[in-house]
Amino acid sequence: MNSTLDISPLTDWITLDGKPFIIAGPCSAESEEQLRQTALALKNLNQAGSRVHAIRAGVWKPRTRPNSFEGMGEAALPWIQTVRKEVGLPFATEIATPQHLELALKYGIDFVWIGARTTVNPFTVQEIADALRGVDIPVLIKNPINPELALWVGAIERIQRAGVKKIAAIHRGFSTHQPSKYRNLPLWQIPIELKSIFPNLPIIGDPSHIAGKREFLAELAQKAMDINYDGLIIESHINPAVALSDAAQQLTPAALGDLLARLQVRQARTTSPETQGQMEELRNRMDRADREIIEAIANRMAIVEEAGEHKRDHNIAIFQVERWNEVFKTRADWGEKMHLNKEFVAELYKVIHLESIRKQTEVMHSANSGEV
Ligand code: PEP
Ligand code: MN
Repeated sequence: MNSTLDISPLTDWITLDGKPFIIAGPCSAESEEQLRQTALALKNLNQAGSRVHAIRAGVWKPRTRPNSFEGMGEAALPWIQTVRKEVGLPFATEIATPQHLELALKYGIDFVWIGARTTVNPFTVQEIADALRGVDIPVLIKNPINPELALWVGAIERIQRAGVKKIAAIHRGFSTHQPSKYRNLPLWQIPIELKSIFPNLPIIGDPSHIAGKREFLAELAQKAMDINYDGLIIESHINPAVALSDAAQQLTPAALGDLLARLQVRQARTTSPETQGQMEELRNRMDRADREIIEAIANRMAIVEEAGEHKRDHNIAIFQVERWNEVFKTRADWGEKMHLNKEFVAELYKVIHLESIRKQTEVMHSANSGEV
């Protein structure tokens, strides 16, 4: 599947001057003063050389437990309206129902996002999509909380079919029960796959909700730039210690300024013919190396097939656990000696093992060539 959706480029709805699209602001709008101080400090970063293009502030907070802070609701919207005028930057908030959308529009919100707990529900996404018909507001769509690419794709398609062209995806990571240093697993291959399905869809990284902790924000923001994301949405609070939601992951505006100043922004491609030539040469070498890998695998599989025939003719079981344990261990050790990641080599051999078993099962059930 690969479809060029009718999506406007980011630059149709925001002036970026070649910089990544940066949205920053508190997890939640808690008071007019908190919002004002945070948004002004973020805007002032722009004089210091960093660039914040838009302010985020949650009004309705989807919380796992009912007794957590669920956002200030409609009461926060007039604060946003006032502060937006004072600061002169566009504001974004999360909507989870058609009513939220209606209120957001009434108070002049510039962009809306659909949260991870909404993207999982096609009924709700469709209701929001229906409400968006004929409305010209950019919509950012977060990945679903569970690692299911189809749900993300489906939500984007529903919004797009409602006629919305200003769309971007937000990668906020995936909920996990596995022990992990992050609050949500990044699973980078999922947004990369999304991008290969919709090549013109802008992708914005949300290191805050992946990290869950301030200390991991910089590495995640850099990784997003390294794989050429179009922007970042980062939570920033004037005083994170007293934040009513997501306190551990919010940064002061000053700390956010530091993070942005250190960020190395990569170019998608180079314009220098010399660099381009060098890149081409490296790609040619990679192509040759890949061909050798495929030849080596084909060679291995031919031996596997021969072994399968031998096992079949002598009535030996295909799978011998001791042999495979030895294969996994020795290959990982060989890989390590050649400076390869041990886990990577072990994973690779799991796949090779599965294919070898499949191949030998095929041979086992094929006619014995010795039979007349
Ligand atoms: C948020 O952006 O504050 C939020 C609730 O995000 P998510 O939907 O990614 O959990
Ligand atoms: Mn949050």
